[in-house]
Amino acid sequence: MANSKYAYVRNFELLDPLLPGCFLVCRIDGHSFHRFSEEHAFTKPNDERALQLMDHAAKDLMSEFKDIVLAFGESDEFSFLLRKSTNLYNRRNAKILSTLTSYFTSCYVFHWPRYFPDTPLRYPPSFDGRIVLYPDEHAIRDYFAWRQADTHINNLYNTVFWALVQQGGQTTTEAHAALRGTVSAQKHEMLFQRFKMNYNDLPARFRKGSVVVREKVSEPEDAHDTDDLPEPIKPKTSEIARIPSKASQRDKLKTTIEVMHCDIIGDEFWDARPHLLA
Ligand code: ATP
Ligand code: ATP
Ligand code: MG
Ligand code: MG
Ligand code: MG
Ligand code: MG
Repeated sequence: MANSKYAYVRNFELLDPLLPGCFLVCRIDGHSFHRFSEEHAFTKPNDERALQLMDHAAKDLMSEFKDIVLAFGESDEFSFLLRKSTNLYNRRNAKILSTLTSYFTSCYVFHWPRYFPDTPLRYPPSFDGRIVLYPDEHAIRDYFAWRQADTHINNLYNTVFWALVQQGGQTTTEAHAALRGTVSAQKHEMLFQRFKMNYNDLPARFRKGSVVVREKVSEPEDAHDTDDLPEPIKPKTSEIARIPSKASQRDKLKTTIEVMHCDIIGDEFWDARPHLLA
């Protein structure tokens, strides 16, 4: 058939497999969200609706892709950890990266009206993505510690910066200048002395970011074998699509996807969840 004349172009598509046996971290970051957040009137320094929307998109991604075992989010970014033995799309880099980034973006747009009911999207937001391979548990611990430390540094800076602007009446240029060269202790002191704010009283979501994990939940006593459950009342035809199958009922009893705002730099979080680095 004539198509074979053209088929050679396929050979220009090169393989892009990700090294086996390594952890995959996919980090997604909003494109030009400095502008996007202004155009959509995000509350500064932290718009909670926007953070919740990011968390929602991250949870959706983890529901869809079971090999994602952990996610961490702050500001306009989310990092997703895929278990090192994942064989998702045969570990093809572009296929994994483009599918995860696209699905996350779609979820963000899909759920937008729920978190911003009075703010229509003025233009379509987009996210960039990258996949980084890490060889061992140590590097993964350091990766997530790096992101959470970044959350803290940015949040402390932004909190003082916006206090100077919103409560101190300074221009943004003046506020940047006032903060130039200051260390962490001085920022805490400025917040406390000038604005009577104790940094540690801020919501944990802002200080620690969002940690999303699949947690095992204990099954109720009588639900070990759902096959033994009495027949449910026969649903109306219109309701059938919404009734989960026995198999998915069983899955739901076993794991849930939880958003937490806890420390992931110390050992406690990881010691309680050894499966994350298995
Ligand atoms: P790039 O395309 O290079 O990522 P960017 O403008 O998105 O550029 P980032 O370093 O990713 O730059 O920073 C994201 C910016 O988005 C933050 O500095 C902040 O201004 C804004 N932003 C993101 N999320 C929120 C939020 N929940 N509340 C308030 N502002 C936010
Ligand atoms: P993959 O995720 O591997 O791409 P796929 O199901 O998307 O799997 P494709 O080879 O991309 O497979 O084919 C897309 C399929 O989507 C088509 O085979 C067709 O069934 C359907 N499809 C796409 N666009 C249309 C359209 N405009 N009208 C009808 N069917 C369509
Ligand atoms: Mg960026
Ligand atoms: Mg960004
Ligand atoms: Mg960012
Ligand atoms: Mg397709």
